[in-house]
Amino acid sequence: MEVKKEKEIILRPHHGMCFNFYVGKGYSKDFTDHMGKVIKFLYDNPDQLICVKSDTDVVCKNCPNNEAGQCKGQRKVIKYDNRVLKTCKISNGSKMTYQEFRKIVKKEILDKGLRSKICGDCQWNYLCN
Ligand code: SF4
Repeated sequence: MEVKKEKEIILRPHHGMCFNFYVGKGYSKDFTDHMGKVIKFLYDNPDQLICVKSDTDVVCKNCPNNEAGQCKGQRKVIKYDNRVLKTCKISNGSKMTYQEFRKIVKKEILDKGLRSKICGDCQWNYLCN
């Protein structure tokens, strides 16, 4: 699936952390290939407007856990999303460029070593340590 410039792209708050640790692993090849494309697109287009929203997003599109637009692990991912929003002091549905969001996540979570407090029980946690 092609990732292209749009007026606005929805991004789940916790995916702003996941992007920093992407090593090509994930739920399926289709999923990881697509996630790699999303990450490359956003790194190449840091001025892309995003809506930081706890909802099915551009990454979820190709995920086998996405069942009719809802994540099978809904409860857990919403918990991660809410923790990211709270730690970054931004509200659900905030709009900003990808570059701005990336900087906030780095400053408020990654640089402070808070990542594992937010999603330490994720099945992929070992990739991010
Ligand atoms: S559907 Fe769920 S598991 Fe899949 S990428 Fe989205 S939040 Fe993650």
